[in-house]
Formats: sequence, structure tokens, C-alpha cells
Amino acid sequence: KLDFHPSGRHFLQIPGPSPVPDRILRAMSLPTIDHRGPEFGALGLELLDKIRRVFKTENPVIIYPASGTGAWEAALANTLSPGDRVLMFETGHFATLWHKMARRLGVEPEFLGLPGYEGWRHGVQADMIEARLREDSAQEIKAVCVVHNETSTGVTSDIAAVRRAMDAAGHPALLLVDTISGLASADYRHDEWGVDVTISGSQKGLMLPPGISFNAISDKAIEASRHNRMPKSFWAWDEILEANRNGYWPYTPSTNLLYGLNEALDMLLEEGLDHVFARHQRWAAGVRTAVQAWGLEIQCQDPAVYSPVLTGVVMPEGVDADAVRKIIYERFDLSLGTGLGKAKGKMFRIGHLGDCNDLTLIATLGGCEAGMKLAGVPLAGSGVTAALDYFAQHPLDAK
Ligand code: PLP
Repeated sequence: KLDFHPSGRHFLQIPGPSPVPDRILRAMSLPTIDHRGPEFGALGLELLDKIRRVFKTENPVIIYPASGTGAWEAALANTLSPGDRVLMFETGHFATLWHKMARRLGVEPEFLGLPGYEGWRHGVQADMIEARLREDSAQEIKAVCVVHNETSTGVTSDIAAVRRAMDAAGHPALLLVDTISGLASADYRHDEWGVDVTISGSQKGLMLPPGISFNAISDKAIEASRHNRMPKSFWAWDEILEANRNGYWPYTPSTNLLYGLNEALDMLLEEGLDHVFARHQRWAAGVRTAVQAWGLEIQCQDPAVYSPVLTGVVMPEGVDADAVRKIIYERFDLSLGTGLGKAKGKMFRIGHLGDCNDLTLIATLGGCEAGMKLAGVPLAGSGVTAALDYFAQHPLDAK
């Protein structure tokens, strides 16, 4: 039960689902149309073309009526065969869940990582991937799977470095990358980074409700999907690619979410992706300034891979982060991300993605600061004041 009359807007500051802008909500409120009619085909062709610009690929992007987890499964089911070895890297909870899925699907994932909890505070270590691939002279490893933006920790790994490591080892494995929470908030380049399958979802940087997800695919991945032996039907790329040629799907697509996607793509492309990325980098820097002013630790310990999407705030020893989050939710109608997996109770996550602005973030930091004070968390100073100063001194479009 909330401690206040819930007037005004709820502050949805978890790292996805992110707030959905009114413009997208309005687009989705239009009547559902015949998904086999000409109007739908034209919409399908338009958005299938535009979505490629967000992934930075010339190749097709598959859209599933599923959450991100479905698109993870699709990536594995279209490229691998039972018993294949794959190399995964433990960066946090989502890398761990993807690893679990790979096992359930009958492939043999090897989980590389830094010792203990260290992996949950750093990014993918490309040199470890290179060393492991060099050992694999029989080329038994069929894919390298990494998470770009690890939503459980607030770390954005360097995918170009992973590509370079694979090339340096001269290894032919496929590169599969989860950017479910990175796409359209953090810089991402499917073609330039030589990614074979990029997995993403709707409810983060694309500012849509949950419910659709993506596979951007390389020629090499399409070739693998023609011969791989994992059973697949709903996820199979071939029939979708065939129907997509005319803007349709082999089954009923999520019509109204696709209206929303078309609108989201217009918003992002009108603004320009570089501007979108700069906006997120600046928000992230402001939020980190606040965390530092509170005298608290940021979950990510390597500044080179700080996430522009979210920041993990570590609670002092002995403070239960979920108890603090509960107070903040009940007193200020503000949702923050919980600590997941190994991070449970140790930290909370502030989302700064999608449809935010300086003042919604200042309010969010205000809720955090007041809630932490109520919970008795010792703070060194005011994060709100520090972030206000940061935003004032770093205007977004400063020349
Ligand atoms: N991977 C990452 C990095 C995520 O952030 C999420 C969800 O938050 C998932 C995978 C799972 O996606 P979904 O919950 O949409 O199935």
C-alpha cells in the first residue's frame, strides 16, 4: 500500500520497461487493421527498412511478437546444433540467464569470467576470449555470446574489442550479441562490429511497451540457419524473411506495437542517433556525479565501460538495498531496479533511458536521496545538488 494519494505520474525509473512517450501511446491507440491487407504491408515494408538504421545494418532485422528472451532463443535456435560448444562471458544476471537457456536448449556453453563477484563489476574481457579461442585449434566453439549492455550491473561492454579478439585468434565462431537494453540508447553498430546476430527488445531504448523483440542477422548467420540442427519453427528465420519481403509475417504480428515501433523509429531518426546517444551519456554522467556526491559506490568499477542506460548504486555494508527501494516506492511513487542474482540486496539500479529529461532525473535522484535518508543510509552530501550543477554546467548542445 502506498503512503500517499497517488496523484501525478508514477516515476518508472527501472532500466526497462522505460516510460512510453505520449506520441508513441497515441500511435498505438489507432484501430487494429487487417495484417494481411495492403495498408499493413506498406507499414511493414516501411518499418523493416527503418529499423535497420537503428541496428546500423544493411541486412534484414527479424521482428518477433515476443519479449527479449524469445529473441535470445531465436538467435541460438537458428544458428546452433545440439551439442555445439559456445563461449559465453559472465557479466551479470542476464549473461547468466542466457547461459542457462543455452544449456536448456542442449548446447554446451562454457562460461568465462573474472573470479567471484568481479565479473559483475566489469565488462567482457576480450583478451580472455582471445586466449580461449586460440586454444581451440579444432574450432569446436561455434559461437561467442556476449551481453552488450548488462542491465543487472550497468556495464556496457566493448563489442568492437570482442570482434578484434576473435579476428586476432583467427577463429570462425559466430558472434552473438544481446543489446536488449543498449539499442537506441548506447552506440551500437551491427555491421561495423561484425556481429552475426544482434538481439534486442522493445521496452528499453525504443521506448515501447514490452512485447516485441529483434534479431539483426549477418549473411554468415543466415547461412548457418540453413544447416543447423536445433529444432525450430516459430523462431525460424526463413519463413519470416520470405513473408517480410512484402511487409508481412507468417503469423499474426503485434499490429499495434508495430504502429508504436514505426513512431519510435521516426522519433529516433528525426532526432539523430548521435544526439540520442549524447543525451544518454550526459544523463549517465549526471547520475554518477550524484552517486559520488552521496559518497556511495557505483556498481561498475571500470569507467571505460560505464553504462549510458543505467547506473547501479551500491549500498553500504549492512544496508538492504531492497528495503531502501521499498521505502522509495511507497513514499515517492518511484520505481527503481532491484539487485538481481548475485547483486540481490547489495545495490539498486537507476534507469536513465528513453523518455527522460534533466528534471525527471533530478526528481528521481531526489526520491533516492530522501528515501536513503529515511532508511538511515549515511550520505556524504547531496547528489541532487551535484547533479543539478552537472546538468547546468554541461548543456546538451554546447558547441
Ligand atoms: N537481456 C538483457 C540485457 C535484459 O535487460 C533483459 C531484460 O531486462 C533480457 C535479456 C530479457 O528480456 P525480456 O525480459 O524482455 O524477456
